[in-house]
Amino acid sequence: MISLKQLTKVYGRGPDAVTVLDRLDVDVASGEILAVVGPSGAGKSTLAQCINLLERPTSGQVVVNGEDLSGLPEHKLRVARRRIGTVFQSASLFSRRTAAENVALPLEYLGVTPAEAKARVAELLERVGLSHRANHYPFELSGGQRQRVGIARALALRPSVLLSDEATSGLDPETTRSVVSLLRELRDDLDLAVVFITHEMDTVLHVADSAARLDRGRILEQGRLVDLLTDHDSALGRALQPQLSPAEPGTGSRAWYVTYDSRTVPADWLQRVSADLGEPAALLAATIQNIGGTSTGNATVGLASADAARVEAAFARHGLRAALRPVARSGGTTAAAGTAAPAAQADSAPEAPAPDHTLDTTPKEAALWA
Ligand code: ADP
Repeated sequence: MISLKQLTKVYGRGPDAVTVLDRLDVDVASGEILAVVGPSGAGKSTLAQCINLLERPTSGQVVVNGEDLSGLPEHKLRVARRRIGTVFQSASLFSRRTAAENVALPLEYLGVTPAEAKARVAELLERVGLSHRANHYPFELSGGQRQRVGIARALALRPSVLLSDEATSGLDPETTRSVVSLLRELRDDLDLAVVFITHEMDTVLHVADSAARLDRGRILEQGRLVDLLTDHDSALGRALQPQLSPAEPGTGSRAWYVTYDSRTVPADWLQRVSADLGEPAALLAATIQNIGGTSTGNATVGLASADAARVEAAFARHGLRAALRPVARSGGTTAAAGTAAPAAQADSAPEAPAPDHTLDTTPKEAALWA
């Protein structure tokens, strides 16, 4: 597991000092995917760099499986970094290395024998479904395949924490779903703690078990996805909801915004609430989705009753939260988990450039394995 304790990053000094991360407390258990979301400038990149220790936090701790890595001296930090695998946006692959050679890179830096490296690389490429692309160069791979190579490389040193830094940003929806589905499989198979940093809210519903909202360097709220989605007061929960356009309630009726999850709510809740109130209940909009095995819903229900307290009590009796709230939403989406095969590749590969060891990632990224 990984814990951030009062993690703080300040750039500059004196009057020029800017606090980019402000006392963040975050726990991610093994086997859990936490999505960290936030707008541009919130501090997501800085957080990613502090987690994989490319940047030293100004204060606070990065604790992995009980050990505080942030305070380690430089020579120990190199070893400590192996516990955290990082997948970057666009995979940051070395263009003159094949998929297999890219995955082998951290193993080469570690000094494992070529035979050991070969076996491990074959295992990793098989794990991400790319054995048949081992000898292809990044330019011969689709965007999704490149991300899979990046994931395999991040796992090369058997980390217990996987950091995904905008790893699905810029991918088309189908490829995103395929990468997300791989991350969820790896979370389960390898019992990884995954920190999934993204600015894409849509992806969070597909990938995460829990989410944290970062804004101007502070975590404003965090929690399990199912709890956020059924919490009327959660801005993050609302932002994660599929956008609905409720129908108008009939004349004399008012619209109630209702959230629920299947742990407490019977499937025929609408009929039951209607029977309790002794009046018809009109379903004006609804979406139900499976979040981590729990059916989670939000609905707009039209009711004529003027007695708000009685209506709230009727919903509450069946485990639903209801509020008279104007809900102006537009567009319509429903979330559906799924997998998709990576885009097909032409078998007649273009001529590959001569392999070499030119670094085309930034020096900072290369420092992860050096
Ligand atoms: P995000 O990834 O969410 O867009 P960043 O972590 O890139 O956010 O940046 C958060 C804030 O920190 C921004 O206001 C940015 O200008 C500032 N910042 C980032 N890096 C530095 C730096 N090296 N020196 C000073 N300010 C920085």
